[in-house]
Amino acid sequence: MLKLTDLVTSYDAFELGPIDLTVENEVLAVLGPSGSGKTTLLSTIAGIVDADGGTTTLNGTELTERPPEDRDVALVFQDGALFPHMTAEENIRYATTGTARIDALIETLELTGMLDRNVETLSGGERQRVALARSLATEPDALLLDEPLANLDAPIRRRLRHELWELFTSLDIPIVYVTHDQRDATVVSDRIAVIHDGKVHQVDTPPELFANPETPFVASFTGNVNVFRARVTDHDRLKWSGRQIHAPTDEHDIGQDVRFCIRPEHVSVAPSDVDHPNVFRGMITKNIYQGSSHHLSVQLKHSTDPVRLTLSPRTYDRLELAEREQLRIKLNTNYIHII
Ligand code: ADP
Ligand code: MG
Repeated sequence: MLKLTDLVTSYDAFELGPIDLTVENEVLAVLGPSGSGKTTLLSTIAGIVDADGGTTTLNGTELTERPPEDRDVALVFQDGALFPHMTAEENIRYATTGTARIDALIETLELTGMLDRNVETLSGGERQRVALARSLATEPDALLLDEPLANLDAPIRRRLRHELWELFTSLDIPIVYVTHDQRDATVVSDRIAVIHDGKVHQVDTPPELFANPETPFVASFTGNVNVFRARVTDHDRLKWSGRQIHAPTDEHDIGQDVRFCIRPEHVSVAPSDVDHPNVFRGMITKNIYQGSSHHLSVQLKHSTDPVRLTLSPRTYDRLELAEREQLRIKLNTNYIHII
């Protein structure tokens, strides 16, 4: 178990923390935008950067005062940071003499056919797999990965994401996986910690995090782009820009100002004969096709905020939305989440 307690690291213009995180033998993804402090967090855990306060313990042993080489923590970088002019195998075996585990790793990571190649001739995905094998060859007690897939093309990225997940589940050590990509985080992790401006906003399983964001930042960063201000007016009602809508408001006091969110895939197109407080007529102001889905922005009469919705190509075609300027949308009550 990796445990960070009140961990603080600061540079002149940036402060990370205080961070309190516990990582069991699981994969914790740390998800946040560029500059949020992800690399600083990993560097502090690895001991490359000194903490200003707090403690890091691994399996009960305090690491805080130990130099990086005495922490039994492996760190994999975005670019792999392989030794150039060496073969894949020389890289993998560089820091260790053991063999049995390395042979298994080479097989798991499908590196058998490229062991003799100079690492400079390998593709980005192959290099990352070599870097991972090299890190794991030392049998670390914890594994830290800093955006290992960020430099790869989308198809390789997708494949490696699933391979990593399989590898990780077999490792049984704490793994911290840093990424700015919510899909990477969702596929490889057991839990996700969302970080912004050096602070952890929320730690949850991916489904919890997506359904129940606790801050507006978590909502928007996980694709919950519809975040609106409203007031609780009854135990199942919100007042939103002058209109009463149905929403699960149970845990909030009447009269409280809140924000609510609804994911774009949970906004639907309502048939013209349906009348419901959560149905609104609006103008389509943006209509963007993104391969597997259509993304629409709809400007409602009563509200200045556009509502975004995502539709499958099948629904989009069935409703003949390519030709339409107006439509009626429904905010599905059960998917409205109050932040
Ligand atoms: P991320 O990995 O999430 O992109 P970083 O941890 O690299 O973020 O950086 C967080 C902030 O700290 C940024 O504002 C960055 O400019 C700053 N920073 C990072 N490293 C240093 C450093 N060695 N000295 C001063 N500021 C730094
Ligand atoms: Mg970084």
